[in-house]
Amino acid sequence: MTIAFDHSYARDLPGTYLRVQPDPAPAPRLLVLNRRLARDLGLDLTEDEARDWFSGAALPPGADPIAQAYAGHQFGGFSPQLGDGRAHLLGEVVTPHGRFDIQLKGSGRTPFSRGGDGKAAVGPMLREYLISEFMAAMGVPTTRSLAVVATGEEIWRETRLPGAVLARVAASHLRVGTFQFFAARGEQDKIKALADHAIARHYPDLAQSGTPYLALLDAVIARQARLIAEWMGLGFIHGVMNTDNMAISGETIDYGPCAFMEGYAPGTVFSSIDHQGRYAYANQPLILGWNLARLAEALLPLLDASPERAVEIANDRLSGIAPRYRAEWLAVMRRKLGLVDEDPGDAALAEDLLTAMEGADWTLTFRRLADEAALRPLFDDFSRMEAWLPRWRARAGDGAARRLAAANPAVIPRNHKVEEALAAATDGDMAPFHALLAAIQSPFTEAEPYMLPAPSGFGRYVTFCGT
Ligand code: AMP
Ligand code: MG
Repeated sequence: MTIAFDHSYARDLPGTYLRVQPDPAPAPRLLVLNRRLARDLGLDLTEDEARDWFSGAALPPGADPIAQAYAGHQFGGFSPQLGDGRAHLLGEVVTPHGRFDIQLKGSGRTPFSRGGDGKAAVGPMLREYLISEFMAAMGVPTTRSLAVVATGEEIWRETRLPGAVLARVAASHLRVGTFQFFAARGEQDKIKALADHAIARHYPDLAQSGTPYLALLDAVIARQARLIAEWMGLGFIHGVMNTDNMAISGETIDYGPCAFMEGYAPGTVFSSIDHQGRYAYANQPLILGWNLARLAEALLPLLDASPERAVEIANDRLSGIAPRYRAEWLAVMRRKLGLVDEDPGDAALAEDLLTAMEGADWTLTFRRLADEAALRPLFDDFSRMEAWLPRWRARAGDGAARRLAAANPAVIPRNHKVEEALAAATDGDMAPFHALLAAIQSPFTEAEPYMLPAPSGFGRYVTFCGT
């Protein structure tokens, strides 16, 4: 088949990317192909085409690979030049439900690689596949995973590992850091072109606004506030919420050391390099505001001709982030608690549950609220729940059990199951990965072996950046 690639980013935004070819994979082997997603994108691929095109072994006709420039605050420190150091955007496909980037990740060095080898290992690419597909199954905005192909090449990390390329699908790869790149260089024409491109692509209605760039900032604030609230509801910890990993589209992007919290603990951190807990579970809403402030800074010249006035306008919008996030969080919590309407006491009800459930399994507690016999074993100390449950029962009313089961997943990508699947895949056995993938793609279907928290011997879970 052929893919009808378009290249609107390259066309609209000269000077924001470099043309560069992926490395040819020497002995590509298709590990997983997302047929359903391929079909949704109108791609009727053979396995051989998927293997060759999504590993860099061959370029699909019409692809015109580029590496995009971006900057970013990494753990609070500004890096003026990051960019696609191991990714190649092949092009965009236009479907009835929108325009999507198809990007290879782990496909070789680019001029943005700095010291890196441009490669990726089988484990981290399959991890991105699993977790992004779980997010999609939960209806959380996310980039998608189309395929992972082992390259047949060994790469060197702490040890030798099999290399792989992920084919990723995204509404776009515009990041907060994309705007920062050009803001840092004082290239206001490029910031305006990027903003126009972002509006046309993600928020077309805003083009009619008298103040389209302010409307863009508002729109990104709205989508990101909702996104982070959804993460919090799932116990998801992104792990590396740098500004280059925050998408203008509002999709979750760049799954690296991310993982799901098991026992509820607000300070949970998994990433080996997050020593200060900057990106801990409970800090994510604060980082939301911090990152969006960086976006607002980059947009300042577009907000008003007077710098003082532009700052005033931006600050006004930034002060709205916390209340907006709070409202989104409350909506998520109402859903998770099986509440159908709104009551002024709901925030306290949700917060008091958090206090009572510290240490108890995040996922299963919500799922089992209506079944006390199943709920009790999740707790070391049930005394606070004894006081809380009657309040919740009175508030939730009839049918709560059914609503809980529809709102709260039975299966999430549990850390020990993810590790088991990735370790087996690294050793050449894909069976545990496919079994886990099938389970997390139907997250509301109870599947006992995938529902249990990690055995106590699993220990404290540590994740590493997927580089
Ligand atoms: P990440 O932590 O994956 O969000 O990546 C942060 C930056 O490091 C981006 O500019 C990546 O392109 C770059 N990067 C990550 N891993 C590699 C690698 N193996 N080779 C080259 N660049 C990389
Ligand atoms: Mg990144």
